[in-house]
Amino acid sequence: MKASDIRNTFLKFFESKGHTIVSSSPVIPGDDPTLLFTNAGMNQFKDVFLGFDKRAYTRATTSQKCIRAGGKHNDLDNVGYTARHHTFFEMLGNFSFGDYFKHDAIQYAWELLTVHFKLPVDKLWVTVYAEDDEAYEIWNKVVGVPAERIVRIGDNKGGRYMSDNFWMMGDTGPCGPCTEIFFDHGEGIPGGPPGSPDEDGDRYIEIWNNVFMQFNRTEDGVMHRLPKPSVDTGMGLERITAVLQHVHGNYEIDLFVALLAAAKAAVEASGGAGIDPDSPSLKVIADHIRACSFTITDGVIPGNEGRGYVLRRIARRAIRHGYKLGARKPFFHLIVAELVAQMGEAYPELRAAQARVTEVLKQEEERFFLTIQHGMEILEGALAGGAQTIDGETAFKLHDTYGFPVDLTADVCRERGVSVDQAGFEAAMNRQREQARAAGKFKMAAGLDYTGVATAFHGYEHLVCETSTVVAVYVD
Ligand code: ATP
Ligand code: MG
Ligand code: MG
Ligand code: MG
Repeated sequence: MKASDIRNTFLKFFESKGHTIVSSSPVIPGDDPTLLFTNAGMNQFKDVFLGFDKRAYTRATTSQKCIRAGGKHNDLDNVGYTARHHTFFEMLGNFSFGDYFKHDAIQYAWELLTVHFKLPVDKLWVTVYAEDDEAYEIWNKVVGVPAERIVRIGDNKGGRYMSDNFWMMGDTGPCGPCTEIFFDHGEGIPGGPPGSPDEDGDRYIEIWNNVFMQFNRTEDGVMHRLPKPSVDTGMGLERITAVLQHVHGNYEIDLFVALLAAAKAAVEASGGAGIDPDSPSLKVIADHIRACSFTITDGVIPGNEGRGYVLRRIARRAIRHGYKLGARKPFFHLIVAELVAQMGEAYPELRAAQARVTEVLKQEEERFFLTIQHGMEILEGALAGGAQTIDGETAFKLHDTYGFPVDLTADVCRERGVSVDQAGFEAAMNRQREQARAAGKFKMAAGLDYTGVATAFHGYEHLVCETSTVVAVYVD
């Protein structure tokens, strides 16, 4: 089964259960200041769950374009390191707006997985929210999953494990307890079952989350009951495709095999040679071309603030990985054609934007290739002494003069087991901001032309970026 057949089977299955097929919304959420990018299928229905918006249907199903590269759900640092995380992925979902609840949701999921997708039941594990006896009983008594493959998991307040069976879209918004379905990819792959100390591996992979939406969390932390109990589910298309194509990781599915080959060819055409086809850098590039292309398609351009800066960070990270493999001139934009060949049918907006996406990426690459070599030399020099930490001043200089977002510097350092002094970096950043402000005041007092002061965007997850200032000239 190809990914496109799996997407169709999912949507048709839920259509046969009375769900309306709804198109994916853009990766940029409409009218939601709490979100930088769409991070789940439920985003476009947020107001329906909250009771502010009414639709003609009470059951919906979607395949949603998602980006998880900032905010509450941030997988940027996982890409290239796990077999299951992307910055851009497709989330298949079924939704009940005050219609069915736990019983039907669980039974639909089980029917699709075991009858239509024919997954072996002994490879499936489930988790339930620790106190959710109702969900536990449905799995155990109605569906028949044996107790040894049902794991109760709390809300991870102690932070001991990565699992968390209370799903929240962000710090505020609809939320509720959830039940997750895992697939055991088998012995020989590192990782333990859900809830165990070594669960953060690629053996037991979470494929589907069913959230029982019951609350709206407001900024003060109070949980308000939703008008009606509802259901929101999400299954990663790439993860279920891996299972159905009998491979163990997302990067081995048909779509990624094609993107990885295109990435390798593009790097080779730009100076790379002798590239290991299993190189994590190729995976990063194949992943990032999707995130970059879909965000540009939906209207973002690389910049120094907000969404534009997230896009720039992702693009430059990919470019740096290509540089590591030997590329010495723009290569990244060359992969867009293969992406369109793979995904243009499912997402016609991508095909329509192909020329624009290619051009925007090419310009970003041309810019970054002007400084990357010098920047890398400085960074290599700082790493050469065997330091355990890169000091904040160096990280700042790389950012300010060579256009290295600090997470890119951290990404290089991580490969060598070295950390970045984030506090020192931010101190240097603040100092520059102060200088800019002072220079602005001085010029105003002297009656000179005043062209603006630094504006700061405190990026998600403590990443900070700056627009150009009157005193320091940012390379862009
Ligand atoms: P994980 O624990 O593996 O990081 P999650 O619990 O954060 O996943 P959910 O928020 O429950 O993920 O999202 C629903 C589904 O979307 C997951 O069960 C998974 O199949 C898929 N998914 C989540 N994050 C990613 C990602 N970064 N790349 C690909 N698929 C993902
Ligand atoms: Mg996650
Ligand atoms: Mg999870
Ligand atoms: Mg989950």
